[in-house]
Amino acid sequence: MGVLAQILIVDDSGFSRAMMVRELTGLGIDACQIRQAGSGAEALAMLTDQSFDLFILDIVMTGIDGIAVLKEVKRRQPNAKIVMCSGSSAPELVKESVSLGIDGFIVKPYKAEDFVRVVCGTLPGVSASCVAGEPLQVKCHVCDSKMIEVNSLNTVSFYCPNGCMQIGPVVYALATQQHFDEDYDRARLGK
Ligand SMILES: [Zn+2]
Repeated sequence: MGVLAQILIVDDSGFSRAMMVRELTGLGIDACQIRQAGSGAEALAMLTDQSFDLFILDIVMTGIDGIAVLKEVKRRQPNAKIVMCSGSSAPELVKESVSLGIDGFIVKPYKAEDFVRVVCGTLPGVSASCVAGEPLQVKCHVCDSKMIEVNSLNTVSFYCPNGCMQIGPVVYALATQQHFDEDYDRARLGK
């Protein structure tokens, strides 16, 4: 069964876009469900004539950048899922993106399996056919919100969408709720 989702990839690198298209079609998403924009301006123009289920946004682009596109998407298509995919993992960019309401953040260069897993986590119809394992679910110790995964090549961090806390980075294999719970308890008990 195919996946019924419309996806817009916004990235100024044609190579990056081609790699993502390859991963997405590998998940069984038809190429006609994937549109591409090579700039922020192009992306904003597309917002007026089509609605999307998932946006994959580069951040650093000349002209209108990915943060500006993210703000417009939240205003005009608030139900869409958003995954940032950026060569920059500067904490202020990550924090701003998370506070604006994103569903995942992938730092380039990324492993294909991480890209697939994060995308699977945003599209319910994909999860069953996802070969890269279940999406990680980690909850904020303060407000109990699902924390946003920030994935880079060898590590993963989690940010509370409400800004309560940030955990990680840790190597991916250690990133379990139990690990973070124990870590949190140790920190709280001062051990
Ligand atoms: Zn929180």
